[in-house]
Amino acid sequence: METSSPQKLLACRHCDLLQHEVVLHRHHDAHCVRCGALLYRGTRARLDWMIALVLASAILLLVSNLFPIAALEKYGTYHATTLAGTVLTLYYQDRPLVAALVLGTAILVPALELCALLYMLLPLRACRIAPGLAYVFRFVLAIHRWSMMEVFLLALLVTLAKLSDLATIVPGIALWAFAGLIASFSAVAASFSARDFWGWVDAIGAEGRP
Ligand SMILES: [Zn+2]
Ligand SMILES: [Zn+2]
Repeated sequence: METSSPQKLLACRHCDLLQHEVVLHRHHDAHCVRCGALLYRGTRARLDWMIALVLASAILLLVSNLFPIAALEKYGTYHATTLAGTVLTLYYQDRPLVAALVLGTAILVPALELCALLYMLLPLRACRIAPGLAYVFRFVLAIHRWSMMEVFLLALLVTLAKLSDLATIVPGIALWAFAGLIASFSAVAASFSARDFWGWVDAIGAEGRP
């Protein structure tokens, strides 16, 4: 994740004139003051891309929670169950720590982070600023540490190892959605830039909206 940087100088690719980078209205472009060449574009496309990634992650999270991901043994027969069902079974099988780990890393933390991101980004798309934006932003930064891809993978590995004696993983749609979620979630983390984000917020302020 990128943090904010001081005002940047840009050199025009055509005439080499150095110019200060300014915050743009989202649908405007910056042109060289000397030769008129395009320097850079407003960040609307990047906002749309972020929203698309976050929405895709939310759909994948939903799908991975709706369909069976594990088959658990009960009285000698196997029952396919969802992530939430796995959490409950683990809890009742006296494995509350593993249950909490799965619940936190595979369901709660990604759901909270995705909701917070949508809360911040969707109003920006409609030229509005969500109330309490700074608090939600800090919440995302804080919770993000707990939803890194490595944590996901580690949790999944630990879970698989711990489950192996009482469950098998169902290689179905939920598992593929979960794998896709890990990919799209790390893409969100890689694409999210605090500098871009506050740039989008400033751009709305610059257009004279509250
Ligand atoms: Zn130029
Ligand atoms: Zn404008």
